[in-house]
Amino acid sequence: MLRIALPNKGRLSEDARELFADAGLEVRARGERALTAALGDAFEAIFVRAQDIPEFVADGAADVGVTGWDLVSESDRALTCLADLEFGRCRLAVAAREDTGVATLADIPSGARIATSFPRLTERFFGKRRLPVEVVPVSGAAEIAPHLGIADIVVDLVSTGSTLRTNGLREVATVLESTARLIAAAEPPRRGDGEQRDRDVRDLVGALQSVLRARGQRYIMANVPRDQLDDVRAVLPGITGPTIIDLLDGGRHVAVHAVAPAATIYRTVAALKSLGAEGILVTRIERLMP
Ligand code: AMP
Repeated sequence: MLRIALPNKGRLSEDARELFADAGLEVRARGERALTAALGDAFEAIFVRAQDIPEFVADGAADVGVTGWDLVSESDRALTCLADLEFGRCRLAVAAREDTGVATLADIPSGARIATSFPRLTERFFGKRRLPVEVVPVSGAAEIAPHLGIADIVVDLVSTGSTLRTNGLREVATVLESTARLIAAAEPPRRGDGEQRDRDVRDLVGALQSVLRARGQRYIMANVPRDQLDDVRAVLPGITGPTIIDLLDGGRHVAVHAVAPAATIYRTVAALKSLGAEGILVTRIERLMP
């Protein structure tokens, strides 16, 4: 059985569970305090802290794991990314107290103290740029360090930027862009049936990716005048072009079915309407395998 490490709480846990459920791998808890759970027939989940997942996967306690790229990078372990899961988007950013006047990296004074819970990435970022700073590791909530007089500058995760603003901090530079990833050890330990394991990992990646692909697309159906078909094709390029179905109305209309990007579906609908389309229907897609 393939063992998958999933975050037990925090920002990534709900989105991870939802993605797995959408892929048909619903978490079936074993007992009250679900530290492990069955995920379909071939997979088992263990629930651990997102920060610990890089270690668990690198050490072989789990075959694959879901955690933030920020934590994977900070762990410095030999891990590979099998899939970008697209949720948990954030950036690791350098931010300075507004009243210090620091607006760019060049304004940071030599020897400045920088509070962060990402000391390795921070050391590397400033080291590469030959900016001599003193990194002060904190275990979390680096944004309060300036209030405590620990440091004027922080390196912390930013999503909307509201935490920085609330704390009077200005974003100065980006250290790393992050999303949740499915990870595996760069060189997985060879035990049991390696081929079966590889197949299970491939199936898992395929199932998750088919859900992610589907989330960005919609299935659109409409009845359009047959003499507008050329223009309809231009509006609905789809994956292999729209499916055209005859209607029993004497041939004046046809039904078209196509897959179109969700982000611009309102424009697609408007364009179809202007071509005389009727009975337009837009639905979500559960999975998409091209
Ligand atoms: P925001 O105010 O939306 O910019 O969020 C910033 C706060 O949320 C900081 O305390 C971050 O540590 C935390 N945060 C934001 N995004 C993430 C993420 N993807 N994973 C973990 N922590 C995050």
